[in-house]
Amino acid sequence: EQEVAEYRKSLAIRVSGFDVPRPVKTFEDCGFAPELMRAIAKQGYEKPTTIQCQALPIVLSGRDVIGIAKTGSGKTASFVLPMIVHIMDQPELQKEEGPIGVICAPTRELAQQIFLEAKKFAKAYGIRASAVYGGMSKLDQFKELKAGCEIVVATPGRLIDMLKMKALTMTRATYLVLDEADRMFDLGFEPQIRSIVGQIRPDRQTLLFSATMPRKVEKLAREILSDPVRVTVGEVG
Ligand code: ADP
Ligand code: MG
Repeated sequence: EQEVAEYRKSLAIRVSGFDVPRPVKTFEDCGFAPELMRAIAKQGYEKPTTIQCQALPIVLSGRDVIGIAKTGSGKTASFVLPMIVHIMDQPELQKEEGPIGVICAPTRELAQQIFLEAKKFAKAYGIRASAVYGGMSKLDQFKELKAGCEIVVATPGRLIDMLKMKALTMTRATYLVLDEADRMFDLGFEPQIRSIVGQIRPDRQTLLFSATMPRKVEKLAREILSDPVRVTVGEVG
C-alpha cells in the first residue's frame, strides 16, 4: 500500500473512494485481449498516460469514476477502451435494441473526435458506433440509429431529439460517459443531461470526466454516480 501511495505521488495522481485499484504501468497490465492490444499498438500508444494508468483499472473493475485531468492528457481512451471490454461482456444486441455505451460531449467537434477514437478500437470487434449531433440531417441520424449500434457519441440536445423520435432506446444502455462535464454545464446542457441520465437504468456504470470540477458539476456527480472513485491528475480540479 505504501509503495502504491508513493507510486501515485510520483505521478501526481490523487484518488479518493474506498478500495481503489492500484494504477497499472502498461496496457498489458489491463488484461486486454490481443485484438485490442493490436488496435492500441496501431494507434502508436506505447504506454498509458498518467490518467489512463489510474483510471483504466478502476473503470475496468466496473466502478463509477470521476476523472479530472487537463486537456490533452488522454482522457478519451480511459473510457473508450473499457467501454469496448464492457460491450464484449454483454449479450449481443437484438433488433430495435441499443446502444450499450452512451457518451455525451459538449460540442459537435468533441463528439466527432471521440467517435473517431471509439471507432478505431471498436472496428476490431465489429462493434458499431454512431455520432449524433446538431447540424446533421435528423432523418439520416434516425435511420443510422434504427439500423442498430452499440455505441452512441452525442451532444445532449440532439440525443434528446433522437430519443423523442424513438430512434434508439436506453433499455440496454449500461455504460454512460459524461465527457467534458464542465463545458457541458457552461453551455447550459444541465437539464438535457439530467433528462438523459433519467432515462438510463440505475444499474449502469457512470463515468464523468472534466478538466475542472465546479460546484454544480460536483453536485450532479454526487447525484448520479454510485460510490465513485475520484481520480485527479496534476494541479487541476
Ligand atoms: P483529453 O480528452 O484528456 O483532452 P485526448 O483523449 O483527446 O485527451 O488525448 C490527447 C491526445 O493524446 C490524442 O491525440 C490521443 O490520440 C493521444 N493519446 C491518448 N492516449 C495516448 C497514449 N497512451 N499514448 C500516446 N498518445 C496518446
Ligand atoms: Mg477529452
